[in-house]
Amino acid sequence: MKKDKQEWHWHPALPLENNPLFKWPLSFNNIGKWYLTMWAPLSETVFCLIIALISFYLIYSPSSNFQNIDLNWIVQIHFINLIIILLVAGGLHIFFYKLKIQKKDFKYDLREFANNKIFIFNSQLLDNMFWTLFSGVTFWTFYLSIFLWSYSNGLAPLITFYANPFWFCLLFFLIILWESFHFYFMHRLLHIPIFYKLFHHIHHRNINPGPWSGISMHPVEHLFYFSSVLIHFVIPSNPLHIIFHLIIMTVGAVIGHCGFDRILINKKNKIYLGHFHHQLHHRYFECNYGTIESPCDVWFNSFHDGTTEASTKMRKNYFREKGSV
Ligand SMILES: [Zn+2]
Ligand SMILES: [Zn+2]
Repeated sequence: MKKDKQEWHWHPALPLENNPLFKWPLSFNNIGKWYLTMWAPLSETVFCLIIALISFYLIYSPSSNFQNIDLNWIVQIHFINLIIILLVAGGLHIFFYKLKIQKKDFKYDLREFANNKIFIFNSQLLDNMFWTLFSGVTFWTFYLSIFLWSYSNGLAPLITFYANPFWFCLLFFLIILWESFHFYFMHRLLHIPIFYKLFHHIHHRNINPGPWSGISMHPVEHLFYFSSVLIHFVIPSNPLHIIFHLIIMTVGAVIGHCGFDRILINKKNKIYLGHFHHQLHHRYFECNYGTIESPCDVWFNSFHDGTTEASTKMRKNYFREKGSV
């Protein structure tokens, strides 16, 4: 515990638990608690769903027509996405790092953002904003536009809430699971040395990430990262699912990288924000490639539960692989 205090300014209760849906024997009590927390009224997931609904109604205005590829509607969608990311990433940055309203309460790492020459403009913040705004939001618009056009032309299998309410609702849960599985394998691929050097190093410049680090990535990484949404060409879905899927991958990533475990609303209420599981990946690299929703890290022995024992074990494995032990 002493070492933990040196490693982190603050961390959640350890060891971290993985999604109990994949833990045998099944505990319906734990699974229920897990999903109730995930879908609590004041939660990241519900926040993403609300943004997805607003975005859906803005995109599908009475005059909208996506049958032909037209720069007009693509630019409008791009503008909506830009506003979302500016409000969420910019808002969290101003709240936590500019105005410092919550001081250091529930901050994982006390260090300030880095300003050195590995970053564009010698600034972690400006570098992160650059990759997010110029590449991240562009690929987000690209994938969303492909789907809007495909649905309008009957090229993607479509369902509606009224025709199939059960599947319509279940899909929101499945999207989060699928995204986690896809992220794990895509992310492991990016840690192959050549791909790491070419692409993934941009995201890993952020050893101590902030909100703008969430989708600060190389364009090739964005292309693969957002490709999890292509599953909807196979699984019957609705444009709202596509919008939600992409919001989880953008807004969810921004929130998860914010560096603070939670935001305090008042003495009683809080919203969980930071993903400590992924914060560990930014510090130790060769662990926690997926998210805590899928069991891949546990199955493939890359799960870091945040404890000092896990860090020691990981370091030993690293040096064994390098042939130093
Ligand atoms: Zn990250
Ligand atoms: Zn990585």
